[in-house]
Amino acid sequence: MSSITSIKAREILDSRGNPTVEVDLFTKQTCQSASVPSGASTGRHEAVELRDGGKRFLGKGVQKAIKNVEQRISPLLKGVDCFEQRKIDEMMIRKDGTKNKSKFGANAVLGVSLAAARAANAEKKKFLFQHLAEISGVDRKPSMPRPFFNVINGGKHAGNKLAFQEFMIAPKAKTFAEALRMGSEVYHVLKEVIEKKYGKEAINVGDEGGFAPPLQRAEEALDLIQEAIRKAGYAGKIEIALDCAASEFYTKGKYVLQAKMSKERLLDYYLHLIKKYPIISIEDPFEQEDFESFADLRKRSRIQIVGDDLTVTNVTRIKKAIQKKSCNCLLLKVNQIGTLTEAFDAVKMAYENGWKVMVSHRSGETEDTFIADLAVAIGCGMIKAGAPCRGERIAKYNRLLRIEEVLRRK
Ligand code: PEP
Ligand code: MG
Repeated sequence: MSSITSIKAREILDSRGNPTVEVDLFTKQTCQSASVPSGASTGRHEAVELRDGGKRFLGKGVQKAIKNVEQRISPLLKGVDCFEQRKIDEMMIRKDGTKNKSKFGANAVLGVSLAAARAANAEKKKFLFQHLAEISGVDRKPSMPRPFFNVINGGKHAGNKLAFQEFMIAPKAKTFAEALRMGSEVYHVLKEVIEKKYGKEAINVGDEGGFAPPLQRAEEALDLIQEAIRKAGYAGKIEIALDCAASEFYTKGKYVLQAKMSKERLLDYYLHLIKKYPIISIEDPFEQEDFESFADLRKRSRIQIVGDDLTVTNVTRIKKAIQKKSCNCLLLKVNQIGTLTEAFDAVKMAYENGWKVMVSHRSGETEDTFIADLAVAIGCGMIKAGAPCRGERIAKYNRLLRIEEVLRRK
């Protein structure tokens, strides 16, 4: 037993330069911290990220959330054993009392939830992934995930006209280290390919470290990626995944890409792309309320269909997607739901219903590497944490390199 003695929080900046919450949780033996990421293409049904409004940081300050950690959550959890993750999370959920954590802010609640897990782990003197595996309730052995590197950015994450948000490469490799090397090599060859075709000004990067060339059509991005894979010597060894984040280009019943498309036409377009390119996974192919079109694509394509804005790591939404057969993979983002316990419950529901799980970062990240350990702990086999570039993305991949060494030693 190790009781929480107090909880402090501070405002730090995320990778986009916006404020976010960092929590320090104290027990008699240790002080452990966690920081909270932030999305740009957020789903309508995500837990609420509490922002201050007003002039400070153009309204994006998180001082209210900080105050909630220190003045409401800290007294609530004082004396509670940090090993009791579910109890800690449920006490915060109950006291917040709202469906979407809008009173305390999911950013306040999540920071505490993750820091509590780290505090318990520090006492066990284990690696975080080992502690998370023990408390997850998930019946799987820890294992290294396959990385999905987002090498071309569009949508809300870039200043170009690409409608689809993420063009990812997924190396098929024996080890994580090898996959990371392959991803890095293709990334750098892709830079040369883009520069040759579109000039130096086209090699700037978007929010997740992928290139953001001035393209319009998905095919242009996919052709560049294919060329880079070939030139790097990995033809047939690297597959492609998309996160379309379709809610962001859905307006007035139509999908606005290079042309306005109905959902039927968009589905045909996806089938065409899947035929032409080695695409193995599509995330959020349709807008966040259209469970039926997701199901149509799942049925007709046989590839991995991932729910993100559709399911928002929320068991109520996941249940609906299971009933409607909308997806076969859950994107797991801890800040969409706000506690570690609820994230584990989402994973369990996904697994029990034959879905896969992919752990995900957010487009606004910090140097915190919690999700790397989480992906290993739940044995899900997949992680997306952006391009193999930019400190906040690399922090997760480097953490995975270290974990792979630990697992190999065992
Ligand atoms: C995503 O949509 O999967 C993503 C990581 O972006 P964001 O964090 O902006 O939602
Ligand atoms: Mg997404």
